[in-house]
Order: sequence, then structure tokens, then C-alpha cells
Amino acid sequence: MLKDIENLLILQDRDRKIRALKAELKVAPTERKGLEDLLTGATAKTEAEKQKGREIEVERKKLENDARAKRDQIAKYNQQKLQTRKNEEYQALTNEANRCEAEIQGIEDRELGLMEQAEQQKAAVGDAERGLAEAKALHARQSQHLDEKIQALQVQLTDLEAQRSGSAAGIDEDLLDTYNRLFASKHDSAIVAVEHEVCGGCHMKLTPSTVAKTKAAKTVTHCDHCGRMLYYGDV
Ligand SMILES: [Zn+2]
Repeated sequence: MLKDIENLLILQDRDRKIRALKAELKVAPTERKGLEDLLTGATAKTEAEKQKGREIEVERKKLENDARAKRDQIAKYNQQKLQTRKNEEYQALTNEANRCEAEIQGIEDRELGLMEQAEQQKAAVGDAERGLAEAKALHARQSQHLDEKIQALQVQLTDLEAQRSGSAAGIDEDLLDTYNRLFASKHDSAIVAVEHEVCGGCHMKLTPSTVAKTKAAKTVTHCDHCGRMLYYGDV
């Protein structure tokens, strides 16, 4: 194999690994955001359940106050009843007091309903808090894992980039330019094998002279169709 091609193949192998590492590093922020979202979601859910609990409690307090006000009202009516001598007025006050009693009954029924709701809400808050604790633990674990992964990838990338510089140093500048252009424009395959007289990049049949030049390996030969650099792959 032509020495230039041999060197370029090493370069291409490193460039592919560099490209793959960069792609992996590029998704890291998305992975991190996924973890953050998980935690934010669990926190918001817990807060929402707690808020619902507080609202039930506020409503219950309000009913309690309403009932107390009605009882005070009944006491007032009873007081007034003691002071009146008119039968009609006495009856009217009795009716008012009875109406208040009936209203208190309704309020107390609603209070009971709310107490049941409060119990259920307490359970929902408990569930949400457990979910939040799990999300926190998962977040901590996975964040650390992600940090370690990113760090490892960056170390590999630095190593590979150093190796790449080393292997590029020995290659003719024009040839390196051509390679770089092809690598960027031909989906990471600047140099491909010729097998059964077909280009390994574009899969088109090559002319006999191109095949012969590739086989002879005296100069760098390009595909007649896609322009990729070729080496002879048939044994
Ligand atoms: Zn081709």
C-alpha cells in the first residue's frame, strides 16, 4: 500500500473516532437537561399536592368559622327570645334559629367531606414526596455518572487530537488539504477500498485504468465518480 494512503488511513481512523466522541459529547447537555427536568417535574408535583392540601385546610377553616358564626347567631336568637313577650316575634326567632341549625348541619357535612379529602391529600403528598426523594437520588447518581462520562470522553478526545496532530504532521500539505475536504464532504470516508473494481464509497464501477493505478499504488488515485481516494482492497 502507498505510504501516503497508509498514513491517511490512520488519520481517517482517528478522525472518525474524534467525530464519534464529539457527537457523544454533544448529546451530554440533552442528557443533563433530561435529568434536570425529572427533578423539576417531581418538585413541582410535590409542591402542587401540598398546595392542594393547604387549599383544603383553608376551606375547612372557613367552614369552621361559618359554623361558629351560625352558632353565635343562634345564641343571639335565644337571648332575644327570652326578652320578647310577643308570640309572633318569638316564633319568628325560633324559625331563624332552626334555619341556622339546618345550615350548620349542611356545613358540618361539608366539613366531614373535606376531612376525608384532607386524608386522601395527605397520602398524595406522601406519594409525591417519596417520588421526589427517588428523583433526587436518581438525579444525584446519574449526574455523577454523566460527569464522569463527560470527563472520560474529554480525556479520550484530547488524547486522540494529540495523536491526530502527530499523524497529520508527516503528511504532505496539499494531500492533507484534499483529505480534509473529502472527509468533511463525504460522510467521514475520504479514503475507501476498491473491491471487485467498485468504489467502496459511491459503489460505482471504476474504469480499468483507475483500478490498475490503484493496484499499482504508485500515486494517490481518486474515484472516477465521487473523487474519494482509493486503495486496493482485493487480496
Ligand atoms: Zn466513488
